[in-house]
Amino acid sequence: MNTALFPCARHFAVLPMVSALAFAQACGSPTVQPTPAPLPAPADLPAAATPTTKAPELPPDPLTKRCMERLETARSQRTALASFATDSPRAAPVTPTAVINALNEMTIAIDLASAESSLMFAVHPDKAVRDAAGKCEQQTEQLKTEIALDRAIYDAIARLDVKSEGPDVKRLVALTLRDFKMSGVDKDEATRARIKHLQDELVQVGQAFEKGIASDLRKVALQPAQLKGLPQDWIDAHKPNAEGKVEISTDYPDYIPFMQYAEDDAARKSLYVVYRQRGWPANKANLQKMLEIRFELATLTGFATWAERITADKMIKNAKAVEEFVTRVAKAAEPRMKAEYQVLLAELKAMDKAATEVNDWQQAYLQGRVKKAKFAFDAQAMRPYLHYDKVKAGLLELTGRLFGITYKPKKDATVWHPSVEVYDVFEGDKHYGTIYLDMHPREGKYKHAAQFTLVNGVAGRQLPAGVLVCNFPNPKTGNGLMEHKEVETFFHEFGHLIHHTFGGHQAMPRFAGVATEWDFVEAPSQIFEEWAKDYATLKVFATNDKGEPLPEDLVKKLVAADEFGKGLWVRHQMFYAGLSLGMHNRDPKGLDQDALVSEIQGKYSAYKAVPDTHMQASFGHLNGYSAIYYTYMWSMVIAKDMFSRFVKEGISNPTVAMRYRKMVLEPGGSKDAADLVADFLGRPYDFKSYEAWLNKKK
Ligand SMILES: [Zn+2]
Repeated sequence: MNTALFPCARHFAVLPMVSALAFAQACGSPTVQPTPAPLPAPADLPAAATPTTKAPELPPDPLTKRCMERLETARSQRTALASFATDSPRAAPVTPTAVINALNEMTIAIDLASAESSLMFAVHPDKAVRDAAGKCEQQTEQLKTEIALDRAIYDAIARLDVKSEGPDVKRLVALTLRDFKMSGVDKDEATRARIKHLQDELVQVGQAFEKGIASDLRKVALQPAQLKGLPQDWIDAHKPNAEGKVEISTDYPDYIPFMQYAEDDAARKSLYVVYRQRGWPANKANLQKMLEIRFELATLTGFATWAERITADKMIKNAKAVEEFVTRVAKAAEPRMKAEYQVLLAELKAMDKAATEVNDWQQAYLQGRVKKAKFAFDAQAMRPYLHYDKVKAGLLELTGRLFGITYKPKKDATVWHPSVEVYDVFEGDKHYGTIYLDMHPREGKYKHAAQFTLVNGVAGRQLPAGVLVCNFPNPKTGNGLMEHKEVETFFHEFGHLIHHTFGGHQAMPRFAGVATEWDFVEAPSQIFEEWAKDYATLKVFATNDKGEPLPEDLVKKLVAADEFGKGLWVRHQMFYAGLSLGMHNRDPKGLDQDALVSEIQGKYSAYKAVPDTHMQASFGHLNGYSAIYYTYMWSMVIAKDMFSRFVKEGISNPTVAMRYRKMVLEPGGSKDAADLVADFLGRPYDFKSYEAWLNKKK
């Protein structure tokens, strides 16, 4: 629980908007698996990188061409759909099958365009391709918006008689009509034109916001002595420059260890401050613009605020329920937060008698010290056992064993960068999907950790292909040793990836992969973090360079130490959730962003806002998640409840794992998330496991 960072995002398309098409999961896909559709061969990928050391510098044309073809397919299906709205003379009667087929074909084409462009925008090493991807993404979003406001398509679907259709068709029609209404399809023409204009603008400003974060790498130049406390291997990798200074950047492999280990308080503060200046000042205006557009969109479609609108199709249902949820969780965590804060303060006072409060740039370091002193846990002691290659192999083996699949390296796959690894997923001898691992930092690449979609799987049509985009230490350029927190992130993202893979075999593209209610999507990833703390799981792959296994005692200490800081972490998370809601449950006109951050941080977090910082300018979730950052904790409540069944029946018990796969992951979005969980648990989910976790005595 590193309070310095946001949790890993499930990456959605830039527009977190209801539309006639499932809320597009992001990111793109070049390699399309066997499909009868006229999709491009991997050979004309934009990035076409054979395993050479350098990505070829190809023009963006193949990506743009493919994007145009897909959007053309979507447009022709849209025309077909619209023609079903009336009883004009036609060769064959309008049947639900004809309408649903056209809707599905349109969804598939748009998803592919959206997926490839979002991914390439985030990861492609060639700026020209990233720019082309950005343009394709904008055009895809424009088309989605046009469709979502197309009255003729709405009418065509609304007039269907689905009484004798199966549950899939009934659900698809009901959800599609709901999305159309939320989009404003029933408004007059002038209003719809305005909505469309705003949607297009929102995509562009959202991209500018993301770019403002990704392109803003900051550095501090320090004296070599200020590295005291960092692991020796890390110090060795950070040699002084010609001026005798060591440059530390805001990229995770620098930032995370530095905030945790550096003894020099002023050095930590200086890195902390520049980290929270990323995106500023450009993103101040971008954020303001996003908030204003969203507010206007909400009011135009009959909602009081954007927060009301974006929660209407979630498990939580409305903004008031979010507020209540945040309050409930914050209250439950309060005693624990207060007690833990006092422990940190005492630790700080032991070093500095004059200290009166703990600051945010001190908390990770102090927590490390407390854990070392109280629990004899030394995070550095774990590093030698957590080599990236071994962790990766361990995850493949574990998920294979639990869920009955195998992975085969796909050496000849076309990738956008030579470091990307590709595996085909098999169930027995049946090809079941493909995964892509783009795991190490490089210039211009997405800075966070997220699962992107390459292809949404559709039964009988195309196999799922998912991508992990992370920024873990690279064994090719360094020693590849990971922090345990990074290992947890790896497990988390892998949880998304298997959800995408198993859920990618539904007949309706709308239900593919993780296309369930958005506030459920973090449950399958958060539950998977539990395995990263399980000794029986870790001992299989975590060995040092002498081949010695990770000592069990170290994991026991990790688990015990992990208990400390929970209250502080939960409250800091409620700060993020409260801020995400607070920015969107009002008319943003004249909003003082810094003042709101300061107010909400003061209300929920144990640490005050630090002068000269503007964390909102690099709070990437404000683009992708807007008002619904609460979803992480909401999903966690459900994840803890689902995990209780593994606790009871065995964390490595393949029977319960397969039950989880069949009942929760495989159905994708074909049922309400609450029903999937109830199917798995044999009862509705509740707060009990979460509260027991939160209040667990040390
Ligand atoms: Zn996630």
